[in-house]
Amino acid sequence: MNAEQKLDVIIVGAGFAGMYALHRMRALGLKTKVFERGDGVGGTWYWNRYPGARCDVNSMEYSYQFSDELQQNWSWSEKYAPQPEILEYANHVADKFDLLRDINFGCNITSLHFDKNSSLWQCTTEKGELFYSRYCIMATGCLSKNNIPDFPGLGNFRGEVLHTGNWPQKGRDFTGKTVGIIGTGSSAIQAIPLIAKQASELLIFQRTPSYSIPARNEAMDKKYEAKIKAEYSTFREDNSRRYAALNNNPNSVSALEVSEKERQTEYEQRWEAGGLPFLASFNDLAINIEANETASKFIQGKIREIVENQSVADLLCPSTIVGCKRLCVDTDYYKTFNRKNVSLVDVANHPIEEITESGLKTSAGEYEFDYLILATGFDAMTGALLDIDIKGLEGKRLKDKWQDGPKNYLGLSVSGFPNLFTITGPGSPSVLANMIVAIEQHVDWISDCLKHLEKHSYQVIVADEAAEEKWVLEVNRIADQTLYPEGCNSWYTGANIPDKPRIFMPYLGFPSYVQHCEHVARNNYEGFKLS
Ligand code: NAP
Repeated sequence: MNAEQKLDVIIVGAGFAGMYALHRMRALGLKTKVFERGDGVGGTWYWNRYPGARCDVNSMEYSYQFSDELQQNWSWSEKYAPQPEILEYANHVADKFDLLRDINFGCNITSLHFDKNSSLWQCTTEKGELFYSRYCIMATGCLSKNNIPDFPGLGNFRGEVLHTGNWPQKGRDFTGKTVGIIGTGSSAIQAIPLIAKQASELLIFQRTPSYSIPARNEAMDKKYEAKIKAEYSTFREDNSRRYAALNNNPNSVSALEVSEKERQTEYEQRWEAGGLPFLASFNDLAINIEANETASKFIQGKIREIVENQSVADLLCPSTIVGCKRLCVDTDYYKTFNRKNVSLVDVANHPIEEITESGLKTSAGEYEFDYLILATGFDAMTGALLDIDIKGLEGKRLKDKWQDGPKNYLGLSVSGFPNLFTITGPGSPSVLANMIVAIEQHVDWISDCLKHLEKHSYQVIVADEAAEEKWVLEVNRIADQTLYPEGCNSWYTGANIPDKPRIFMPYLGFPSYVQHCEHVARNNYEGFKLS
């Protein structure tokens, strides 16, 4: 092994997690390289360039807080930042902190094997290069492996097939074209209104309708920006004490404690204000089915008000639990169904049978279009990790270890896989918290942990199997108090991927999660073996 190949830390992924991890590892004086399959930084925001892609978290919150200079000097143009601006921000951070020189772009990692004798990870790239490192940090993202359903005939389609999660860099002009889109989750809901304005005809193939709340996006209110910047650290600190680390104005009363009129007023106000805080309208929407039904009825009422054709409105009205699948946030989604060039096709009752040369065939009919867009989501949270052949102690594969579900400790570490850390892994708040806040908390924890190991000359840290078992039970215990694990086929549980083990993956509750992590670190990394 030559000096180039020998590293202290390998980081996989140059999204927001990998970038910040690189910054922190350098500060520890560790020789670090990031391997990124894309040709630029930004992760999710690098790949998801479909029309209308934007964040559903307020811009003043969806950004790094580790550098006050960075957060003071950057200005967002809109309440919810559009994808190009978030990507610009990622590039700005990469330049400001001189990150690019340690990132290998266009570089896919195929395997990571731990060697017990040397306590090193051996990393192989798709091109056959080899690197060795003491630590591995998996910053592979929660929504980074596209779900491409196994539709018969997909390869026969003569037009272009696009996936929202791998959108062409130059975009596509749909003017005068017919477009078919499969899926009606967050990505489709953002893309549909814009594609409908461009395409001559848009066919939307819906299996399960989603609940969507208007974003009410607008230009950044400069007074609000100045107010937040004047007290940014307090604002961040207050938010990190909230359930999802988001400033979502939670209401502490039950939906069932108030009168019908008060309930409607609360929902109306939240609908007018827009966005994800709708879920915080009452304190029991996630735990009480009757309370949840009141929110469901309210949104259904809105859909029926907006959509003129009532049989289309009926199809668009979900009957599932609100919040069980990720709540969507839109601009003019429901209104788009009043356009003459837009049709909704029900593929729940009439499933897609095959993709044909010119379109697709359901059990009810055939449809033709020039472009097929798959807005079919992701093999979430575990997909990108398991795409890499990861072998730990005794040559045990992560894929085998996780065949019944992603067992790990704190969503940060897996027993049998020493010195390997996952950022926002399953078993951590991740997608059910403000992602950037969750990322920074994980990277800071890992960085403190490595500092501790270096200081005490430990070579190896590995999670105990017993601590891992206990953690998995804890994640499930909390999830089982809610309506989410059993309430729908969501990607939170892996139910969107055939044969994926069904287990509720995120940990619910950012503040209590942080307490767990701090407790573990304070108690000499309780639940880990250090040697
Ligand atoms: P998604 O929520 O998983 O939605 C996928 C859609 O494809 C669903 O409507 C699903 O229907 C449909 N689908 C999948 N396989 C199908 C099949 N074989 N036949 C017919 N329909 C099929 O994926 P997404 O919209 O890409 O969003 C994923 C997550 O990314 C979101 O939940 C969110 O966390 C994040 N995201 C966030 C934003 C934002 O910040 N605003 C934007 C986009 C995405 P079923 O429901 O029936 O399975």
